[in-house]
Amino acid sequence: MENSKALKSGEFLVAETTAQDIFIPEEYNEEQLMIAQTCRDFLNTEVYPNLDKLDKQDRELMKEILKKSGDLGLMGVSIPEEYNGFGQSFVTQMLTAETIGAGYSFSVAFMAHCGIGTLPIMYYGNEEQRQKYVSRLATGELLGAYCLTEPGAGSDANSGKTNAKPSEDGTHYILNGQKMWITNAGFADTQVVFAKIENDRVLSAFIVESSMPGVVVAPDEKKMGIKGSSTAQIFYNDVKVPAENLIGARGEGFRIALSILHMGRLKLGANVIGAAKKAISDSVKYANERKQFCVLISTFGAIKHKLAEQVIRTFGHESATYRVSYDIDRLIDEMKATGMDKGRATIEAISHYAVEAALLKVYGSEMLDFVADEAVQIHGGMGYSAEMAVERGYRDSRINRIFEGTNEINRLLVVDTAMKRAMKGDFDLFDEAEKLSNDLQNVACKPSGSESYFEEKQLYIKNLKKVALLAIDGASKQFGKKLVQEQEVLNNISDIMMQVYIAESMALRINKLEAMKGAGSCSVYRDILDVYLYDSADLVRKSGSDAVNSFAQPEQIPVMLSAIEALTKVPALNVKESRRRIADKLIADNEYKF
Ligand SMILES: Cc1cc2nc3c(=O)[nH]c(=O)nc-3n(C[C@H](O)[C@H](O)[C@H](O)COP(=O)(O)OP(=O)(O)OC[C@H]3O[C@@H](n4cnc5c(N)ncnc54)[C@H](O)[C@@H]3O)c2cc1C
Repeated sequence: MENSKALKSGEFLVAETTAQDIFIPEEYNEEQLMIAQTCRDFLNTEVYPNLDKLDKQDRELMKEILKKSGDLGLMGVSIPEEYNGFGQSFVTQMLTAETIGAGYSFSVAFMAHCGIGTLPIMYYGNEEQRQKYVSRLATGELLGAYCLTEPGAGSDANSGKTNAKPSEDGTHYILNGQKMWITNAGFADTQVVFAKIENDRVLSAFIVESSMPGVVVAPDEKKMGIKGSSTAQIFYNDVKVPAENLIGARGEGFRIALSILHMGRLKLGANVIGAAKKAISDSVKYANERKQFCVLISTFGAIKHKLAEQVIRTFGHESATYRVSYDIDRLIDEMKATGMDKGRATIEAISHYAVEAALLKVYGSEMLDFVADEAVQIHGGMGYSAEMAVERGYRDSRINRIFEGTNEINRLLVVDTAMKRAMKGDFDLFDEAEKLSNDLQNVACKPSGSESYFEEKQLYIKNLKKVALLAIDGASKQFGKKLVQEQEVLNNISDIMMQVYIAESMALRINKLEAMKGAGSCSVYRDILDVYLYDSADLVRKSGSDAVNSFAQPEQIPVMLSAIEALTKVPALNVKESRRRIADKLIADNEYKF
């Protein structure tokens, strides 16, 4: 795998990738599987028995469990050894995030600590700051929080009013302001706080210790879900923050905040896989026990449809998540080879994949909401009972569409970032798009009949990519610089890009899997791909048509719509039988084992 080629962020829209170029979850090594097992054991012994108590907002208990996970080494997975961590690869970090993702509100507290609460100091802090804070955050001796949001500054994060005034002798800053919705606020020892120094236009980042005089933490918010996770406002009243606690340079805070959000989005993309697999396993176990009309409900076609759909979307999202995770690992290695510090190389590589990070955040959080919702439905009335895990899962999943940048913001970012990268010259998007627009009659590739199963799938996926290119080209020409104001059209394009990336990642994964295991043992995976592509083509057709109808001149519309029709044509499929086969495997396994 070492010599294979990683794509640039967003390049998937125009490039072709081979199965050998990607990493798939079936390639985890023994150490990775062992780390995942340790996380699962931890959830089983320390988290699941305590969920009811945690949901009663027992801050002390959450703190205790977090510390235990630190004692076990789970908090050090992303931290280099010199700061008491284990310096694992990005793929392993994501696998840890996935596994802990099945831990309901514990997962939110754990991820906020290990990710946004620790990594800004690891990636942007100096050696003294890393030694003083990161080495203790990595073991759970200290617990961390990340404080960006304010009452008046949510999506528009740079508009915060929290202010840091340098003292006259230059030894410290005097911090005043207020933060809101801060995860782990109730027990965090350290906070990464974003504030503007004097009248700066952009933020700076500081390490604030919760014990510093003037730091006041409000009681926990009463929330819809993730009730066990402490979320509160924090007030800063003339807090004296030592000058040496500035992270990076003055004014670098906004860049730090954005980079850390890219990382948070990717990790959220991994978290939701664990939560989805847990909800699917809960769903099928119930369906295999509950009888109505004298038979198990898992024998009903309507229930099989739901189970299969839960699997298909989870499998697709997982395929894409580990594809980009490995791309990030390759870029980290490339950057380290140029002499870059490992922490910096990691965050630079993560930030590079901003398109995929936003895409996975949106697709993954919506995938989990779908899975969690169907899990409740499969349980019928019991799904509405607080006794059942799926009830908690349903409430807890909803937050993922809101934090780490709302899905509205991230949908916009997917397209905007890809276009900016293309303009920068990372890949040729606009020439490709222009070529297609000039030959709309012949735009669709048609299978000749001599292609292999996977070659044919790639051809259809290539056609779907062309819909995205046509929409980008047409909308950019029509709106020019005003395209940023056409959010509905950007959303259409973003939705197409998501479908394409998931479909392609799934196809490449199954192709590689067949090469590893033999086609005979993979037929159900072909069912997954067949159904996904069949549905995906329809979604792309709808999004593409909506976009065209919103930007094209009346005389252009018919020809553009017929091009989209041709590009989204996929073979007929007995989706009912394909879904039944997928569900039957799940039902036989009685848990998610794909
Ligand atoms: C449980 C929980 C935990 C959290 N943890 C943390 C934490 O640890 N640290 C932290 O700093 N923050 C945290 N947050 C804050 C979270 O990141 C913000 O809530 C989020 O960024 C959205 O900001 P907002 O709530 O102000 O919504 P707003 O920005 O007011 O958005 C309201 C609506 O308008 C939409 N919108 C806003 N701007 C645009 C635009 N330009 N175009 C289109 N639509 C737009 C949004 O998508 C949304 O639908 C947490 C929030 C919650 C609920």
